[in-house]
Amino acid sequence: MSGNEARQAAIQQIVNRGSVENSINYEKLPTSKIYGSSVFSLQVMEQRLPRKVFKSLRKTIENGTKLDPETADAVASEMRSWAMEKGATHYAHVFYPLTGLTAEKHDSFFNPDGKGGTLAEFEGKTLIQGEPDGSSFPSGGIRATFEARGYTIWDVTSPAYILENPNGTTLCIPTAFVSWTGEALDKKTPVLRSMQVLNVHAQRVLKFFGTDGAFVSSTAGAEQEYFLIDRNLFYARPDLLISSRTLFGAPPPKGQEFEDHYFGAIPERVLACMFEVERECFKLGIPVKTRHNEVAPSQYEIAPVFEFGNVATDHQQLIMVTLRRVAQKYGMECILHEKPFAGVNGSGKHLNYSMGSANAGNLFDPGDTPAENAQFLVFCMAMIRAVYKWAPLLRAVVASASNDHRLGANEAPPAILSIFLGDELTEVIEALSEGKPVQSKKSVMTVGVDVLPPIPKHSGDRNRTSPMAFTGNRFEFRAVGSSQSIAGPLVALNSIMAESLDYCASFLEGADTSTPEKLGKVVAELVKTVYAECKAVIFNGDGYSEAWHEEAAKRGLPNLKTTADALPAIKSQDVVDLFEKYNVLSARETHSRYEVYAEQYVKSINVESNLMLEIARTMIFPAAIRYQGELATSLAQLKAVGINTDADTLTYITGLIATLQGAIKALSEKKEGAEHGDPENACLYCKNEIIPAMASLRAVVDELETVVADDQWPLPTYQEMLFIK
Ligand code: ADP
Ligand code: MG
Repeated sequence: MSGNEARQAAIQQIVNRGSVENSINYEKLPTSKIYGSSVFSLQVMEQRLPRKVFKSLRKTIENGTKLDPETADAVASEMRSWAMEKGATHYAHVFYPLTGLTAEKHDSFFNPDGKGGTLAEFEGKTLIQGEPDGSSFPSGGIRATFEARGYTIWDVTSPAYILENPNGTTLCIPTAFVSWTGEALDKKTPVLRSMQVLNVHAQRVLKFFGTDGAFVSSTAGAEQEYFLIDRNLFYARPDLLISSRTLFGAPPPKGQEFEDHYFGAIPERVLACMFEVERECFKLGIPVKTRHNEVAPSQYEIAPVFEFGNVATDHQQLIMVTLRRVAQKYGMECILHEKPFAGVNGSGKHLNYSMGSANAGNLFDPGDTPAENAQFLVFCMAMIRAVYKWAPLLRAVVASASNDHRLGANEAPPAILSIFLGDELTEVIEALSEGKPVQSKKSVMTVGVDVLPPIPKHSGDRNRTSPMAFTGNRFEFRAVGSSQSIAGPLVALNSIMAESLDYCASFLEGADTSTPEKLGKVVAELVKTVYAECKAVIFNGDGYSEAWHEEAAKRGLPNLKTTADALPAIKSQDVVDLFEKYNVLSARETHSRYEVYAEQYVKSINVESNLMLEIARTMIFPAAIRYQGELATSLAQLKAVGINTDADTLTYITGLIATLQGAIKALSEKKEGAEHGDPENACLYCKNEIIPAMASLRAVVDELETVVADDQWPLPTYQEMLFIK
């Protein structure tokens, strides 16, 4: 009897699959024509709305002024007409609960007209505010079920769009999700609040350099890594289906050691899928730009051009949804988990971060003039200070059960938060803080009195091992996980930059900056002060090396290896105070977030361990004893005809089966003894008790995979999943 029918059937399906059908006609409908075609953009609004309405709306979008009800009504009515021309029958308030996913509640435009017919309606108040029954979303204690009302509130700054489905289209309106007391229940609200406060303190600094006025926004460009696995194999793996990662699986004979996949030719079906994903993104006005193979077999990347932080965040969510939806059309499953395959490269989401305005340009771009350089230096020092001072928070906002597998492993930045500046920029800062002339490869720069040094442009190097790297005109936060919303990291970056810019602005405001020379001196003084306090966080070497771990410990930098260690930073007093002081989150909101994230960690580990036990008991154990029985039968038969062979394999597998049974028992006992009360203890229990027991169970199952007859092994193997494309 064969135990691997599911595997065989899956492979057969893949072999019999026809070639990719051409479903897009590029000549009839070129990309240039579809870009933004599903978006109720500023341009569309300008064309369609009465001038007065458009002007008022624009003021709200650009300056955050309150929207008056007449404007809202006019916009709603036009938005509905536009959407209905595109076939929409429903509208949905889209929101971003703390699970990190995207949620939507759909309502029809049509209401009974009382005469047996129907009337399409969409009023301003329905556009502005919705009331989904959101009682099942995690709130971390902010809502009890009896006061479960939550409201969705239109985010005017993020454009509405059309969601297509073969059977209809829906108007989607990005919204913030808050409780009836006005407390944030979502990821968007603090993003918007942190953008506001960043602007306030950036303006205070910019005033000294003669550029101010236009709203300073953070900008974000997120590089998304993902795996594409054939759906037939995916469905034959309950672990992938339920937990998005393989909980078992022996390493394949060939892994990624040849690096033959990285930047290699993209397989036909995958490329076809990418084309369609990009086309869908283009329709939604998402400026996706880059695609390539990644390091691991079957791993890829998609990256858009950067946008304002809040729009980039919504678009990033849409990219994830689109990837998963379109992949299915091509018979594949898009896996966004940070570590779907042990021993194989994991997936991250590098968050490129900067800030700028229409007047001041990109504030992390070293300029050409001394004044621009001085301004750049202030923003750069603010960043160095922020990362130094708030490292535990930055670590906490990328903490999750799934990202724990990646951070600190050999392909991702370590859990130690350091900042990479490149040698040249570091030398400039060092020399400046010592009051010395800067020796550069290109020129000697005089420092301090009348001229600040020209900063080498794009000196940022390609250090792949740093969690926070300066890459010439932006910082790249590489610790973000592939499945995460970028909202959390963005909120943290905006808030800590606001706090640091507040510090820098106060420094400048308290000094004599009445002439450019004096200002130059004060900036040099600021550089010196911040550098002296925060230089421990600057590291330009190999972040993967053992030596760095030792060095970082000497420097006193925290190394918070797991979510259980990292998460409590969110509820530390200084983080609570930070968010409260800058009006990003109230103390209650911050605490509630900690609770939700801790609970999510515990729940993830709980689901994974349940699954492990189920698979081990119902798939692995039966396969192992069947094979054991076969070996025993064959040995007995041989003996009966007088052949005595050794029973090594039988003995070995019998031992493994005993170990397997022991490991199953140990894990289920650990689960029974689990902590349920205090969230911090519950996380630590997972880390210290459950996860090690899961690792032991996995070890014996993976060993069995190398022994049990292949035709009896029930789960698709790593090589099948990673190399069949
Ligand atoms: P690499 O893989 O070399 O890091 P990519 O081209 O894949 O580079 O991605 C770079 C990302 O950085 C893109 O999303 C790009 O738009 C973004 N980026 C560039 N400039 C800025 C900026 N000023 N602010 C935010 N993101 C930026
Ligand atoms: Mg890249």
